Amino acid sequence: MAEKSFKYIILGGGVSAGYAAQEFASQGVKPGELAVISKEAVAPYERPALSKGYLFPQGAARLPGFHCCVGGGGEKLLPESYKQKGIELILSTEIVKADLAAKSLVSAAGEVFKYQTLIIATGSTVLRLTDFGVKGADSKNILYLREIDDADNLVEAIKAKKGGKAVVVGGGYIGLELSAALRINNFDVTMVFPEPWCMPRLFTADIAAFYETYYTNKGVKIIKGTVAAGFTANPNGEVKEVQLKDGRSLEADIVIVGVGAKPLTALFKGQVEEDKGGIKTDAFFKTSVPDVYAVGDVATFPLKMYGDVRRVEHVDHSRKSAEQAVKAIKAAEGGKTVEEYDYLPFFYSRSFDLSWQFYGDNVGDSVLFGDSNPSNPKPQFGAYWIQGGKVVGAFMEGGSGDENKALAKVAKARPDAGSLDDLTKQGISFAAKI
Ligand code: FAD
Repeated sequence: MAEKSFKYIILGGGVSAGYAAQEFASQGVKPGELAVISKEAVAPYERPALSKGYLFPQGAARLPGFHCCVGGGGEKLLPESYKQKGIELILSTEIVKADLAAKSLVSAAGEVFKYQTLIIATGSTVLRLTDFGVKGADSKNILYLREIDDADNLVEAIKAKKGGKAVVVGGGYIGLELSAALRINNFDVTMVFPEPWCMPRLFTADIAAFYETYYTNKGVKIIKGTVAAGFTANPNGEVKEVQLKDGRSLEADIVIVGVGAKPLTALFKGQVEEDKGGIKTDAFFKTSVPDVYAVGDVATFPLKMYGDVRRVEHVDHSRKSAEQAVKAIKAAEGGKTVEEYDYLPFFYSRSFDLSWQFYGDNVGDSVLFGDSNPSNPKPQFGAYWIQGGKVVGAFMEGGSGDENKALAKVAKARPDAGSLDDLTKQGISFAAKI
C-alpha cells in the first residue's frame, strides 16, 4: 500500500489544524514538509459558523466564506492556498490506526503516513442518544451538529420540514444557538433539558433567567427538569414524537440533539498519557510521547493562571494552542524555547440579536449588573464572579468592543472586588478602570 512521509503531520482538519497550518506557513515550511490529514471533505474552517450564520434563512454563510483563519482576523486559507504554501491537504481521509512508537498513521483506505513530528488535532465528537440506548433514537431527522456534513443535513431537513415542529434536546450553547436558528427559520421550537436553567455550566440562575425569558418572548417553548426518554417514528422511519421522562410527549418533525461532546482520543489509547479525559500536555502542548503534540479540544494542558490542568472546548483556545505548539516546535528546531502558554479562558456565543462574551473562571460568588430586562430593545448587562475577595470571571451580554476588552483585562488582573454592592453599582465601569 502507498506510503507517504512528512516532516510534520497535523492530524485533523478543524480549527486547530487551520491555525497550526497558518503558523507553519508564516514561519516557513518547505514544499512537501507538512501535511494536514482530515476526514472532512473541505479545508479547515471556523466551526462556530455552523450553528450561527450557516443556518440563516437568508444570506447564509457558506464556504469558502469562513475558512480558517478569518475568525481570528487572519488570512483566509482557501483549499488552493495550502498548495501554494507547499502544504499537502489530504481530505476525506480518516485515520483509523495510529502507532506513535513507529511514527505512523494508517487511513481507512490503507494508506500509511509517516511523520517526524505529529500534531494531534482530532477535536471532539458529539454524544449520541443512541449511545445511551434511548428508544427510537436512530429515527430519521434526529440530528446532531459537529461537522459541515451535519450542518448540510440540518439545512436539508429545515427545507424539507418547512415551518414544522422542532424539538431541541439540550440546554447548552448548542441547544440555545440551534433553537434560535430554527425559530428564525419559522419552526415551532421546544427546548428540553434536565437542569433547572439553561447553560448551567456557565450561567448563574440570574443570567439564565434573562435568556430564557428572551427566548420565550421570541416564541421558543422551554421545558426544564426532564429528558427525552424515547422517540416514535412514522412509517417512513422519520421521527414524529418525542416522549419525555416526565410522561409528556411532543410532536416533532425535526429533533436536534446537543447534549455534549467527547474528545477524540481513542486512536491513541494506551500510547500516550491522558488526564481529565484528554491527552495530557505541557505548556508547549507536548505530550508524554516524544515529537507528539496535542492541541485544541483534545489537549489537557496546564492553565497557568489557575495553577490547574484543564481541557477547554472553545474556539479561542483551539486557535491559540495550535499556534503555541507550532511556535514551540519551530523554536526547538533552532535550539530556542518559547514562553509557557498562559491562557485566559474565553468563550462567546451569539443567537437572535444577542451576543455575549465570558472571560476567566466562573467560580465563587457572583453579582449581576446593568439592564437585564429581556423586554428592553437593547438589553446590556453583565456579571462578575468573585473568589477569595478577587474578581476572577467576567461576563457581558451586548458589550461593545471596548467593554469586552475590559472584561478580559479584569479577568486577567483579578483585582480586589471590594464590596459586592459597590461592584454591582459600578458594573462595567469597574472593569473599564483596570
Ligand atoms: P475540530 O474543530 O472539531 O476539528 C477536528 C478535526 O479532526 C475535524 O476536521 C475532524 O473531522 C478531524 N478528525 C477527527 N478524527 C479524525 C481521524 N481519525 N482522521 C482524520 N480526521 C479526523 N466555541 C466557542 O468558543 N464559541 C462558539 O460560538 C462555538 N460554537 C461552536 C459551534 C459548533 C456547531 C461546534 C461544533 C463547536 C463550537 N465551538 C464554539 C467549539 C469550537 O468550535 C471547538 O472548540 C473547536 O472547533 C475545536 O477545534 P479542534 O481543532 O480541536 O477540533
